[in-house]
Amino acid sequence: MSGQLVRSLLIALATALVAVPLGYFVAPWLGWGVFCLGLGLQLLFHFRNFARLDRWSRHPVVDASLEGEGEWDGVFGRLYRHEKELRQQIAQREQEIAMLIAAGQALTDGVVLLDLEHHILFCNRTAEAQLGLKIEVDRGQSIVNLVRQPEFARYLSDNDFSRPLSLRPERYRERVYAIHVIPYAGSRRLMQIKDVTQEDRLDQTRRDFVANVSHELRTPLTVLAGFLETLQEIELDTEERQRYLQMMSDQAGRMQSIVQDLLTLSSIESAPPPEDEVVDMSRLLDKLRRDAEALSGGRHTVELEIDGKADLLGAEPELVSAFGNLVTNAIRYTPPGGRVRILWNRTPLGAEFAVEDTGPGIDAKHIPRLTERFYRVDRGRSRDSGGTGLGLAIVKHSLGRHQAQLDIRSEVGKGSRFAARFPLHRVIAQG
Ligand code: ADP
Repeated sequence: MSGQLVRSLLIALATALVAVPLGYFVAPWLGWGVFCLGLGLQLLFHFRNFARLDRWSRHPVVDASLEGEGEWDGVFGRLYRHEKELRQQIAQREQEIAMLIAAGQALTDGVVLLDLEHHILFCNRTAEAQLGLKIEVDRGQSIVNLVRQPEFARYLSDNDFSRPLSLRPERYRERVYAIHVIPYAGSRRLMQIKDVTQEDRLDQTRRDFVANVSHELRTPLTVLAGFLETLQEIELDTEERQRYLQMMSDQAGRMQSIVQDLLTLSSIESAPPPEDEVVDMSRLLDKLRRDAEALSGGRHTVELEIDGKADLLGAEPELVSAFGNLVTNAIRYTPPGGRVRILWNRTPLGAEFAVEDTGPGIDAKHIPRLTERFYRVDRGRSRDSGGTGLGLAIVKHSLGRHQAQLDIRSEVGKGSRFAARFPLHRVIAQG
């Protein structure tokens, strides 16, 4: 600005140099007139540039046409550069913030940022869906007023975030969220909401499983212990002693079956699938029929029907176990005089192994749960026939490892049909 001042003074001086001789030698009014005109023009020049600056400062746009005149051009140039840099910095910051928000949105966990009074500063889309929030409307609201569950409010007010809060949201009762609160930047809180529904279900299944196994083993163990006590305390004749020993052996056998089925199930679940081999189906089906007849002891009609010769690609022991379970169930649950059919068909989509019986059938409400571990329609009947309640769970897992589907159709009083459907890539056609 000092350059501008010097320039103005020089112009004023130049005007005076012209005005003074004119006033002295020609006429005073002419001198004053020239002097005033000179100063007026200067004033006008500054006023014009000042007005332009004033207009611009009200709506500062980065515009290359922002030019001043004379020394004012330097001022306008510096302002232009400053404004441009400022805008570039703001754009860069905005881009960084947008990236941070995008990262927050990309998280699969819900994220809510809160201030010390639990007012919402930000939340991502996952959190919106989880808690039923809408950030445009709910920004600045207290989260406790929006998630109206006492345990949630208590968790926030207690201010002890060493352990996460397990919350079943009001809107989705079947879901479970683990809520972690992490204090940051002094008074702010970052709330992370993890959907742990799956883990919770697995946990529950594991707990139920342990309880079921204990229960299943406890019953025969209690009976065994009781017989042992009787044998120790009471003198029995040989026949009675034999009867007791037989009952003890039955209970031990039952425990053995449960443990064996548990081991089979755990190996199918945890071990990687064994190498595929070509399973000779006609040999396997023939063995299944012979086993069924042996188990039936002549009390049932056992039929084997093969439609279209085909072998399977898979793990033979697992397939034997799956098919064997279906055939054994049919014999065990079908009353004497009934009929059991073992069927092996080529289908347009692959092949189907099925077992049909004329047994008691199963009510439709039980069918979706039959493959759960230890699920039985009739506990007593299952136990009496030597069932462990794990057979169909083993079937389901074995078939799953062969990409096969288990299809169960049944009608109470008429009989059941259990079918394993194999996809085309598992089937090797024989001619
Ligand atoms: P279990 O060892 O009790 O037979 P499974 O898992 O093999 O256990 O079968 C589960 C339940 O399904 C059985 O308890 C029985 O109630 C029912 N079930 C299985 N197969 C048949 C069938 N062929 N006819 C009638 N009910 C059956």
